[in-house]
Amino acid sequence: MGTCRATGIQAELIQAEKVRKYLSENNILRTDLKISKDDSFIYFPIKEISKELNSYTIIEREFEKRETKPKSYKEIVAIPDNLRHELPTSYNIIGNIILIKLPESLLKYQKEVGESLLKTNKNVKTVCLTQPVSGEFRIRDIKVIAGENRTETTHKEYGLTFNVDVKKTYFSPTLATERKRVATFVKQDETIVDMFAGVAPFSIMIAKYANPKVIYAIDKNEDAVKFARQNIKRNNVLDKIEAIHADAKEICRILNQKNAKADRVIMNLPFSAHVFFTSALEIINDNGTIHYYDIQKEEKIQERINGLEKTAKENRVVLKNLNVRKIKTYAPREFYIGLDITVRKNTPM
Ligand code: SAM
Repeated sequence: MGTCRATGIQAELIQAEKVRKYLSENNILRTDLKISKDDSFIYFPIKEISKELNSYTIIEREFEKRETKPKSYKEIVAIPDNLRHELPTSYNIIGNIILIKLPESLLKYQKEVGESLLKTNKNVKTVCLTQPVSGEFRIRDIKVIAGENRTETTHKEYGLTFNVDVKKTYFSPTLATERKRVATFVKQDETIVDMFAGVAPFSIMIAKYANPKVIYAIDKNEDAVKFARQNIKRNNVLDKIEAIHADAKEICRILNQKNAKADRVIMNLPFSAHVFFTSALEIINDNGTIHYYDIQKEEKIQERINGLEKTAKENRVVLKNLNVRKIKTYAPREFYIGLDITVRKNTPM
């Protein structure tokens, strides 16, 4: 790293800790240079000579430079200065893969962005340029821009381990707290249906942190089900979760075959969950809970709730607890919302 000539304070070795504490508490100590010592004295590099230092011996000497790690990739990325303000502040980390969205103006510098993200995130092995999730399977258009050329990784949350292929399956690390929250509501011996289970993070969180009788984890994406099965095995919850490769519109037939009804249904399919709401009402027990997720513009939220209530009325059930939680921002004035709906059957309309 080299050395640098700088002003410092010379202190007796026996005084070292007392002086270091004083300098650092008063913001006088330089942190970009290393403290040094010899057989007789210790030398502290300082920012400036002030009156409070009158009682100390001031010296000039060579100090070794400290290696300072950049805090953000933005500090080191090699791009024109006039584009720097367009660099995204946030990105997702799934396992050891970073997924970042770039504006059009930065696409030309994707390699530079990728390399700087690798340098500043020591556990990351791959950086991918990504588009927003889209299509029926909610997967992303992905391109590796730096590091190892692969899209499969292992993500950890709350002591659980999920294998994911970020190109072939949906997974969102930002829903970890929501998954944990849902697990806290689950009572002993519940039958649960995870209608759009993906690689099964909700199901596995519940199986590990609560004690349900069984969870049926359904997904239409064959790859997601393959990973769900691996994850169920890996997290030792084979006795609690059955992964089913099916279309959720088949859910009534599937549960009939099993002679089962659900105490709790998880519907994490933003934009389209409402299409399957009638099926969820059909399979759920009286007083059961539906965890319903959607992405809605602020001004459209009430309209969606009215739609759900209309569906409930047509199915002669009553919905309670229609409180909306805004879980995260999706776009300006557009939110990822969650509702914990209680379904009452046999109640006067
Ligand atoms: N619950 C998972 C999670 O939190 O990671 C995945 C949620 S992801 C937003 C929605 C999932 O629904 C995707 O894995 C997609 O493949 C699945 N899906 C979409 N349409 C479906 C359908 N008709 N039946 C079953 N699964 C479906």
